[in-house]
Amino acid sequence: DPHAWQRALRAQFPIVTGHPELAYLDSAATAQKPQAVLDAVQTYLTTSNANSARGTYTWANRTTELVERTRERVARFLGDGRPERSAVHFTSGTTEGLRTIARDWLPGFLRDGDEIVVPDADHQANITPWLEAQRLLAREGVRVRVLPMPYQSGSGDYDHTALAERAGPRTRFVATTHVHHVYGGDMNVHRVREAVGPDAVICLDAAQSVGHLPVSVAESDVDFVVFSGHKALALPGSGAVWARQARGPEFTPGGWSGTPNTVGIASLEAALDWLDAAGVERIERWTVALAARLTDGLRRLDAYEILGCPLSLAADSPVQRRQSIVTLRHRAIDSGDLGFILFSHGFMVRSDHHCQGDGGEKTGSVRVSLHVYNTVEEIDRLLSVLASLQ
Ligand code: PMP
Repeated sequence: DPHAWQRALRAQFPIVTGHPELAYLDSAATAQKPQAVLDAVQTYLTTSNANSARGTYTWANRTTELVERTRERVARFLGDGRPERSAVHFTSGTTEGLRTIARDWLPGFLRDGDEIVVPDADHQANITPWLEAQRLLAREGVRVRVLPMPYQSGSGDYDHTALAERAGPRTRFVATTHVHHVYGGDMNVHRVREAVGPDAVICLDAAQSVGHLPVSVAESDVDFVVFSGHKALALPGSGAVWARQARGPEFTPGGWSGTPNTVGIASLEAALDWLDAAGVERIERWTVALAARLTDGLRRLDAYEILGCPLSLAADSPVQRRQSIVTLRHRAIDSGDLGFILFSHGFMVRSDHHCQGDGGEKTGSVRVSLHVYNTVEEIDRLLSVLASLQ
Protein backbone atom coordinates (compact mmCIF):
# COMPACT_ATOMS: atom_id res chain seq x y z
CA ASP A 1 0.00 0.00 0.00
CA PRO A 2 1.77 3.15 -1.22
CA HIS A 3 -0.19 5.34 1.18
CA ALA A 4 0.46 3.38 4.35
CA TRP A 5 3.00 5.93 5.58
CA GLN A 6 0.44 8.72 5.24
CA ARG A 7 -2.18 6.75 7.13
CA ALA A 8 0.36 6.12 9.88
CA LEU A 9 1.06 9.84 10.13
CA ARG A 10 -2.62 10.79 10.00
CA ALA A 11 -3.30 8.35 12.82
CA GLN A 12 -1.08 10.50 15.05
CA PHE A 13 -3.52 13.46 14.98
CA PRO A 14 -6.16 12.75 17.64
CA ILE A 15 -8.50 15.56 16.61
CA VAL A 16 -8.51 14.26 13.04
CA THR A 17 -9.00 10.58 13.82
CA GLY A 18 -11.54 11.46 16.51
CA HIS A 19 -13.84 13.11 13.95
CA PRO A 20 -14.05 10.84 10.92
CA GLU A 21 -17.26 12.57 9.81
CA LEU A 22 -15.39 15.87 9.39
CA ALA A 23 -12.64 16.95 6.98
CA TYR A 24 -10.34 19.69 8.21
CA LEU A 25 -9.38 21.71 5.13
CA ASP A 26 -8.21 24.91 6.81
CA SER A 27 -4.59 24.21 7.66
CA ALA A 28 -3.47 27.53 6.16
CA ALA A 29 -5.33 29.17 9.04
CA THR A 30 -3.87 26.82 11.63
CA ALA A 31 -2.66 23.25 11.58
CA GLN A 32 -3.73 20.34 13.78
CA LYS A 33 -1.25 18.92 16.27
CA PRO A 34 0.22 15.40 16.36
CA GLN A 35 0.25 13.43 19.61
CA ALA A 36 4.02 13.99 19.92
CA VAL A 37 3.43 17.74 20.26
CA LEU A 38 0.68 17.25 22.82
CA ASP A 39 2.99 14.88 24.74
CA ALA A 40 5.89 17.36 24.66
CA VAL A 41 3.66 20.03 26.18
CA GLN A 42 2.45 17.67 28.90
CA THR A 43 5.99 16.44 29.62
CA TYR A 44 7.39 19.94 29.83
CA LEU A 45 4.63 21.18 32.13
CA THR A 46 4.86 18.15 34.40
CA THR A 47 8.64 17.81 34.61
CA SER A 48 10.40 21.11 33.92
CA ASN A 49 8.10 24.13 34.00
CA ALA A 50 10.00 27.20 35.24
CA ASN A 51 11.19 30.53 33.94
CA SER A 52 14.30 30.49 31.79
CA ALA A 53 17.74 32.03 32.38
CA ARG A 54 20.10 31.98 35.34
CA GLY A 55 18.27 29.42 37.39
CA THR A 56 19.95 27.78 40.32
CA TYR A 57 17.72 24.74 40.14
CA THR A 58 17.03 21.95 37.65
CA TRP A 59 13.70 23.06 36.19
CA ALA A 60 14.96 26.55 35.39
CA ASN A 61 18.12 25.11 33.86
CA ARG A 62 16.12 22.65 31.78
CA THR A 63 13.92 25.49 30.58
CA THR A 64 16.95 27.59 29.63
CA GLU A 65 18.37 24.61 27.75
CA LEU A 66 15.06 24.05 26.01
CA VAL A 67 14.99 27.65 24.75
CA GLU A 68 18.62 27.56 23.56
CA ARG A 69 18.26 24.12 22.01
CA THR A 70 15.12 25.16 20.16
CA ARG A 71 16.82 28.27 18.79
CA GLU A 72 19.39 26.03 17.17
CA ARG A 73 16.67 23.57 16.17
CA VAL A 74 14.85 26.31 14.27
CA ALA A 75 18.06 27.34 12.50
CA ARG A 76 18.84 23.77 11.49
CA PHE A 77 15.27 23.15 10.40
CA LEU A 78 15.66 26.09 8.04
CA GLY A 79 18.80 24.58 6.55
CA ASP A 80 21.19 26.90 8.34
CA GLY A 81 24.54 25.13 8.57
CA ARG A 82 26.17 27.90 10.62
CA PRO A 83 23.67 28.72 13.39
CA GLU A 84 26.40 30.45 15.40
CA ARG A 85 26.41 33.25 12.83
CA SER A 86 22.67 33.82 12.59
CA ALA A 87 20.08 34.75 15.18
CA VAL A 88 16.76 33.16 16.09
CA HIS A 89 14.24 35.13 18.08
CA PHE A 90 11.00 33.68 19.34
CA THR A 91 7.86 35.66 18.64
CA SER A 92 4.17 34.91 19.00
CA GLY A 93 3.88 34.28 15.26
CA THR A 94 4.44 35.69 11.80
CA THR A 95 2.55 38.92 12.42
CA GLU A 96 4.61 39.72 15.49
CA GLY A 97 7.83 38.58 13.79
CA LEU A 98 7.37 40.89 10.80
CA ARG A 99 6.31 43.72 13.08
CA THR A 100 9.43 43.22 15.20
CA ILE A 101 11.70 43.50 12.17
CA ALA A 102 9.85 46.61 10.99
CA ARG A 103 9.88 48.26 14.40
CA ASP A 104 13.25 47.27 15.83
CA TRP A 105 15.52 46.69 12.86
CA LEU A 106 14.32 48.44 9.71
CA PRO A 107 14.60 52.07 10.98
CA GLY A 108 18.30 51.54 11.75
CA PHE A 109 18.88 50.16 8.26
CA LEU A 110 17.01 52.53 5.96
CA ARG A 111 18.41 55.87 4.85
CA ASP A 112 16.81 58.95 3.37
CA GLY A 113 15.79 58.28 -0.23
CA ASP A 114 15.70 54.47 0.05
CA GLU A 115 13.02 52.38 -1.58
CA ILE A 116 11.33 49.36 -0.16
CA VAL A 117 9.22 46.88 -2.11
CA VAL A 118 6.06 45.63 -0.46
CA PRO A 119 3.67 43.11 -2.02
CA ASP A 120 0.23 44.71 -2.04
CA ALA A 121 -1.75 41.51 -2.58
CA ASP A 122 -0.05 39.57 0.20
CA HIS A 123 -1.36 38.92 3.67
CA GLN A 124 -1.90 42.16 5.63
CA ALA A 125 0.67 40.92 8.14
CA ASN A 126 3.30 41.38 5.43
CA ILE A 127 2.12 44.84 4.36
CA THR A 128 1.06 46.89 7.36
CA PRO A 129 4.34 46.73 9.35
CA TRP A 130 6.38 48.14 6.45
CA LEU A 131 3.93 50.98 5.84
CA GLU A 132 3.99 51.77 9.56
CA ALA A 133 7.80 51.85 9.49
CA GLN A 134 7.66 54.25 6.54
CA ARG A 135 5.30 56.56 8.47
CA LEU A 136 7.47 56.45 11.57
CA LEU A 137 10.59 57.31 9.58
CA ALA A 138 8.79 60.17 7.82
CA ARG A 139 8.16 61.72 11.22
CA GLU A 140 11.90 61.74 11.77
CA GLY A 141 12.45 63.32 8.36
CA VAL A 142 13.64 60.14 6.65
CA ARG A 143 11.78 59.71 3.37
CA VAL A 144 11.33 56.12 2.23
CA ARG A 145 9.43 55.26 -0.92
CA VAL A 146 7.27 52.13 -0.96
CA LEU A 147 6.99 50.38 -4.33
CA PRO A 148 4.21 47.81 -4.64
CA MET A 149 5.49 44.37 -5.57
CA PRO A 150 3.86 43.78 -8.98
CA TYR A 151 1.69 40.73 -9.56
CA GLN A 152 1.06 39.02 -12.88
CA SER A 153 -2.65 39.27 -13.36
CA GLY A 154 -4.37 35.91 -13.12
CA SER A 155 -1.26 33.89 -12.36
CA GLY A 156 -0.99 34.52 -8.65
CA ASP A 157 2.77 35.02 -8.99
CA TYR A 158 4.89 38.12 -8.66
CA ASP A 159 5.83 39.78 -11.90
CA HIS A 160 9.58 39.33 -11.56
CA THR A 161 10.35 41.06 -14.84
CA ALA A 162 8.48 44.19 -13.83
CA LEU A 163 10.16 44.01 -10.43
CA ALA A 164 13.60 43.86 -12.06
CA GLU A 165 12.71 46.89 -14.19
CA ARG A 166 11.57 48.90 -11.19
CA ALA A 167 14.21 47.91 -8.67
CA GLY A 168 17.30 50.05 -8.63
CA PRO A 169 20.27 50.79 -6.40
CA ARG A 170 17.95 52.60 -3.96
CA THR A 171 15.87 49.46 -3.47
CA ARG A 172 17.22 48.21 -0.18
CA PHE A 173 14.49 46.14 1.40
CA VAL A 174 12.03 43.67 -0.09
CA ALA A 175 9.24 41.90 1.75
CA THR A 176 8.13 38.72 0.05
CA THR A 177 5.96 35.74 0.76
CA HIS A 178 7.22 32.23 0.19
CA VAL A 179 3.87 30.55 -0.46
CA HIS A 180 0.90 32.82 -1.05
CA HIS A 181 -1.95 32.23 1.40
CA VAL A 182 -4.69 32.66 -1.23
CA TYR A 183 -3.08 31.83 -4.59
CA GLY A 184 -1.17 28.88 -3.20
CA GLY A 185 1.82 29.35 -5.47
CA ASP A 186 5.46 29.23 -4.54
CA MET A 187 6.42 32.86 -5.11
CA ASN A 188 9.85 32.13 -6.59
CA VAL A 189 12.11 33.70 -4.01
CA HIS A 190 15.20 32.99 -6.10
CA ARG A 191 13.79 35.15 -8.85
CA VAL A 192 13.09 37.97 -6.38
CA ARG A 193 16.78 37.94 -5.45
CA GLU A 194 17.78 37.96 -9.13
CA ALA A 195 15.42 40.88 -9.73
CA VAL A 196 16.61 43.09 -6.88
CA GLY A 197 20.32 42.33 -6.93
CA PRO A 198 22.78 41.13 -4.29
CA ASP A 199 22.62 44.01 -1.81
CA ALA A 200 18.94 44.36 -0.98
CA VAL A 201 17.66 42.75 2.19
CA ILE A 202 14.95 40.16 1.55
CA CYS A 203 12.50 39.33 4.32
CA LEU A 204 10.61 36.09 3.76
CA ASP A 205 7.11 35.53 5.13
CA ALA A 206 7.27 31.76 5.43
CA ALA A 207 3.96 31.36 7.29
CA GLN A 208 2.58 29.03 4.62
CA SER A 209 5.77 27.18 3.77
CA VAL A 210 7.47 26.09 7.01
CA GLY A 211 6.31 22.53 7.63
CA HIS A 212 4.86 22.22 4.13
CA LEU A 213 7.95 22.21 1.94
CA PRO A 214 11.68 22.46 2.56
CA VAL A 215 12.68 26.03 3.41
CA SER A 216 16.43 26.38 3.00
CA VAL A 217 18.37 29.49 3.87
CA ALA A 218 21.40 27.73 2.36
CA GLU A 219 19.63 27.65 -1.00
CA SER A 220 17.77 30.96 -0.97
CA ASP A 221 19.64 34.11 -0.27
CA VAL A 222 17.13 35.69 2.09
CA ASP A 223 18.01 37.71 5.18
CA PHE A 224 15.01 37.04 7.38
CA VAL A 225 12.68 34.04 7.61
CA VAL A 226 9.53 34.56 9.67
CA PHE A 227 6.97 31.88 10.53
CA SER A 228 4.21 30.84 12.91
CA GLY A 229 4.55 27.69 15.02
CA HIS A 230 0.81 27.09 15.01
CA LYS A 231 0.75 26.59 11.24
CA ALA A 232 3.68 24.17 11.55
CA LEU A 233 1.96 21.75 13.98
CA ALA A 234 3.09 23.53 17.18
CA LEU A 235 1.02 25.60 19.62
CA PRO A 236 -0.23 29.12 18.91
CA GLY A 237 2.15 31.78 20.19
CA SER A 238 5.31 29.93 19.20
CA GLY A 239 6.69 31.62 16.09
CA ALA A 240 10.21 32.65 15.24
CA VAL A 241 12.35 35.06 13.25
CA TRP A 242 15.56 33.72 11.75
CA ALA A 243 18.05 36.47 10.82
CA ARG A 244 21.12 35.89 8.65
CA GLN A 245 23.01 38.86 10.13
CA ALA A 246 24.94 39.52 6.93
CA ARG A 247 23.41 42.69 5.48
CA GLY A 248 22.71 45.76 7.58
CA PRO A 249 22.84 46.13 11.35
CA GLU A 250 22.53 43.20 13.72
CA PHE A 251 19.05 42.03 14.55
CA THR A 252 18.82 42.37 18.32
CA PRO A 253 15.23 43.28 19.07
CA GLY A 254 14.46 44.84 22.39
CA GLY A 255 12.12 43.37 24.92
CA TRP A 256 13.54 39.88 24.84
CA SER A 257 14.27 39.78 28.53
CA GLY A 258 10.63 39.04 29.32
CA THR A 259 9.36 35.53 29.99
CA PRO A 260 9.45 33.54 26.75
CA ASN A 261 6.56 31.28 25.77
CA THR A 262 8.35 28.21 27.09
CA VAL A 263 5.39 25.88 26.54
CA GLY A 264 5.09 27.10 22.96
CA ILE A 265 8.82 26.61 22.49
CA ALA A 266 8.58 23.04 23.83
CA SER A 267 5.77 22.41 21.33
CA LEU A 268 7.82 23.94 18.52
CA GLU A 269 10.80 21.72 19.23
CA ALA A 270 8.55 18.66 19.16
CA ALA A 271 6.78 19.82 15.99
CA LEU A 272 10.06 20.37 14.12
CA ASP A 273 11.32 16.95 15.27
CA TRP A 274 8.06 15.39 14.10
CA LEU A 275 8.22 17.14 10.73
CA ASP A 276 11.83 16.09 10.17
CA ALA A 277 11.03 12.49 11.05
CA ALA A 278 7.96 12.51 8.79
CA GLY A 279 9.96 14.14 5.98
CA VAL A 280 8.92 17.58 4.78
CA GLU A 281 9.63 16.65 1.16
CA ARG A 282 7.27 13.70 1.44
CA ILE A 283 4.64 15.94 3.05
CA GLU A 284 5.05 18.37 0.17
CA ARG A 285 4.66 15.65 -2.45
CA TRP A 286 1.52 14.41 -0.70
CA THR A 287 -0.22 17.74 -0.31
CA VAL A 288 0.81 18.99 -3.77
CA ALA A 289 -0.67 15.79 -5.25
CA LEU A 290 -3.92 16.35 -3.34
CA ALA A 291 -4.05 19.99 -4.49
CA ALA A 292 -3.44 18.87 -8.08
CA ARG A 293 -6.24 16.31 -7.78
CA LEU A 294 -8.55 19.05 -6.54
CA THR A 295 -7.60 21.55 -9.27
CA ASP A 296 -7.91 18.85 -11.96
CA GLY A 297 -11.38 17.97 -10.68
CA LEU A 298 -12.42 21.62 -10.42
CA ARG A 299 -11.34 22.35 -13.98
CA ARG A 300 -14.00 19.90 -15.14
CA LEU A 301 -16.70 21.79 -13.21
CA ASP A 302 -17.76 24.88 -15.14
CA ALA A 303 -19.39 26.52 -12.14
CA TYR A 304 -16.04 27.13 -10.45
CA GLU A 305 -13.20 29.55 -10.92
CA ILE A 306 -9.80 28.78 -9.40
CA LEU A 307 -7.78 31.72 -8.12
CA GLY A 308 -4.05 31.94 -8.69
CA CYS A 309 -2.06 29.62 -10.89
CA PRO A 310 -4.75 27.60 -12.59
CA LEU A 311 -2.97 24.39 -13.48
CA SER A 312 -1.31 21.55 -11.76
CA LEU A 313 2.12 21.95 -13.23
CA ALA A 314 4.66 19.23 -13.80
CA ALA A 315 6.89 18.67 -10.80
CA ASP A 316 9.96 19.88 -12.71
CA SER A 317 8.28 22.95 -14.18
CA PRO A 318 10.56 25.99 -14.00
CA VAL A 319 7.58 28.22 -13.36
CA GLN A 320 5.63 28.63 -10.20
CA ARG A 321 4.03 25.54 -8.74
CA ARG A 322 0.98 25.31 -6.63
CA GLN A 323 1.45 24.19 -3.08
CA SER A 324 -1.20 22.96 -0.65
CA ILE A 325 -3.71 25.80 -1.04
CA VAL A 326 -6.54 25.90 -3.58
CA THR A 327 -8.86 28.90 -3.57
CA LEU A 328 -12.05 28.86 -5.58
CA ARG A 329 -15.27 30.66 -6.32
CA HIS A 330 -18.63 29.42 -7.47
CA ARG A 331 -19.89 31.59 -10.31
CA ALA A 332 -23.38 31.85 -8.78
CA ILE A 333 -23.19 30.91 -5.09
CA ASP A 334 -21.80 33.46 -2.64
CA SER A 335 -18.57 32.23 -1.04
CA GLY A 336 -19.90 32.67 2.50
CA ASP A 337 -22.93 30.55 1.60
CA LEU A 338 -20.70 27.99 -0.07
CA GLY A 339 -18.66 27.73 3.14
CA PHE A 340 -21.83 26.99 5.14
CA ILE A 341 -23.05 24.46 2.57
CA LEU A 342 -19.69 22.71 2.66
CA PHE A 343 -19.73 22.58 6.44
CA SER A 344 -23.17 21.00 6.34
CA HIS A 345 -21.36 18.18 4.50
CA GLY A 346 -18.56 18.09 7.08
CA PHE A 347 -15.92 20.16 5.27
CA MET A 348 -14.15 22.88 7.22
CA VAL A 349 -12.88 25.54 4.81
CA ARG A 350 -12.18 29.23 5.04
CA SER A 351 -14.48 31.60 3.17
CA ASP A 352 -13.89 35.36 3.18
CA HIS A 353 -11.27 37.80 1.92
CA HIS A 354 -8.38 36.02 3.65
CA CYS A 355 -6.78 39.22 5.06
CA GLN A 356 -5.34 40.28 1.69
CA GLY A 357 -4.00 43.78 1.15
CA ASP A 358 -5.58 46.38 -1.16
CA GLY A 359 -3.97 44.83 -4.23
CA GLY A 360 -5.73 41.53 -3.57
CA GLU A 361 -9.09 40.04 -4.43
CA LYS A 362 -12.11 42.28 -4.06
CA THR A 363 -14.57 39.39 -3.94
CA GLY A 364 -14.61 36.69 -1.29
CA SER A 365 -13.61 33.13 -2.05
CA VAL A 366 -13.43 29.68 -0.51
CA ARG A 367 -10.00 28.43 0.46
CA VAL A 368 -9.18 24.73 0.76
CA SER A 369 -5.83 24.21 2.45
CA LEU A 370 -4.17 20.93 3.18
CA HIS A 371 -1.67 19.21 5.40
CA VAL A 372 -0.24 15.76 5.77
CA TYR A 373 -3.37 14.39 7.49
CA ASN A 374 -5.66 15.09 4.54
CA THR A 375 -6.64 12.24 2.24
CA VAL A 376 -7.51 11.44 -1.37
CA GLU A 377 -10.91 10.32 -0.14
CA GLU A 378 -11.56 13.77 1.40
CA ILE A 379 -10.68 15.48 -1.89
CA ASP A 380 -12.90 13.14 -3.90
CA ARG A 381 -15.79 13.61 -1.48
CA LEU A 382 -15.35 17.38 -1.66
CA LEU A 383 -15.30 17.27 -5.46
CA SER A 384 -18.50 15.27 -5.55
CA VAL A 385 -20.26 17.76 -3.24
CA LEU A 386 -18.97 20.66 -5.35
CA ALA A 387 -20.18 18.87 -8.50
CA SER A 388 -23.63 18.45 -6.99
CA LEU A 389 -23.84 22.25 -6.55
CA GLN A 390 -23.28 22.99 -10.24
N1 PMP B 1 1.51 35.69 6.47
C1 PMP B 1 0.83 34.77 5.80
C2 PMP B 1 1.22 34.45 4.39
C3 PMP B 1 -0.22 34.09 6.43
O1 PMP B 1 -0.90 33.16 5.76
C4 PMP B 1 -0.54 34.40 7.77
C5 PMP B 1 -1.67 33.71 8.50
N2 PMP B 1 -2.84 33.54 7.79
C6 PMP B 1 0.21 35.38 8.42
C7 PMP B 1 1.23 36.00 7.75
C8 PMP B 1 -0.07 35.76 9.85
O2 PMP B 1 0.24 34.69 10.69
P1 PMP B 1 -0.12 34.75 12.25
O3 PMP B 1 -1.59 35.02 12.33
O4 PMP B 1 0.22 33.39 12.75
O5 PMP B 1 0.68 35.81 12.86
